[in-house]
Formats: sequence, C-alpha cells, structure tokens
Amino acid sequence: MTAQGEDILAWLDDAISLREQKARRLGGGPFEVKTYPWGGTYLEGAELHEDEIAHIVLHDPASVLRRCAADRELLELHGGRAHSCPAYDYDGDLDEHARFYNHEVCPVVQHLADGYGWTAKQTSPSKGDQVT
Ligand SMILES: [Zn+2]
Repeated sequence: MTAQGEDILAWLDDAISLREQKARRLGGGPFEVKTYPWGGTYLEGAELHEDEIAHIVLHDPASVLRRCAADRELLELHGGRAHSCPAYDYDGDLDEHARFYNHEVCPVVQHLADGYGWTAKQTSPSKGDQVT
C-alpha cells in the first residue's frame, strides 16, 4: 500500500472512531422525533446537551450528503455488476479476488446496507426495497 493509501485509511479510521465515540456517549441508540400536541417537533429524551449537539453537527446535512455521495460511488463500483473484490471464503480465509456475478451481493454492498440499517435477518435487498 502506498503512503497516500495508508494516510487515507488512517484518516478514515480516525473519522469513523470520532463518530463512534460521540454516538456511544449518547447511548448508541436512535433519536426519535416526536410531535408536540400543539405542533412542532422535538427529539425524544434529548435536551441537546453538548454531546448531543456535537453528534448532530457531525451529521449535518453537508456531512450526510458527502456520505451519501461516497456510498453511491461505492455502489456504482460494487452493485449490480460482475466484479472481483476481497471477501472471506467459507473457511474464513481472505480471498483477495473473489468473483461476484451481477446478481450477487458482495461484502462491500452488504456492509453499506448494514450501515443503513439492513440486518442479516432480512433477505438480500433488491431494487425498490423500502429503507428506513
Ligand atoms: Zn464488491
């Protein structure tokens, strides 16, 4: 791996670790948006302390749009097309050039779906499935 590749991986690890740390400080669960009887909305159980504000700032619309654009780039490379990418085989060994056909879901797509709330209990996602 090149020095630039190592720099990007280290930066990504730091960025993910920061988000994990801030999310865990808030209990790790989802926020629930509630509606007041008189209108308006609020976050259930959140009085917006410093940690919550820091977490929300990390997930501002600009950040979410960057994440979505990056995830779409990964889907363009790995989704719905025949390709090779690293995957663990049935013995748990890393196969650096596992072949996936266009109807198969590679680990990158599976992990992207996991990040959006897809669970292993669900069947493989297909185009048009509702996401939450
Ligand atoms: Zn792939």
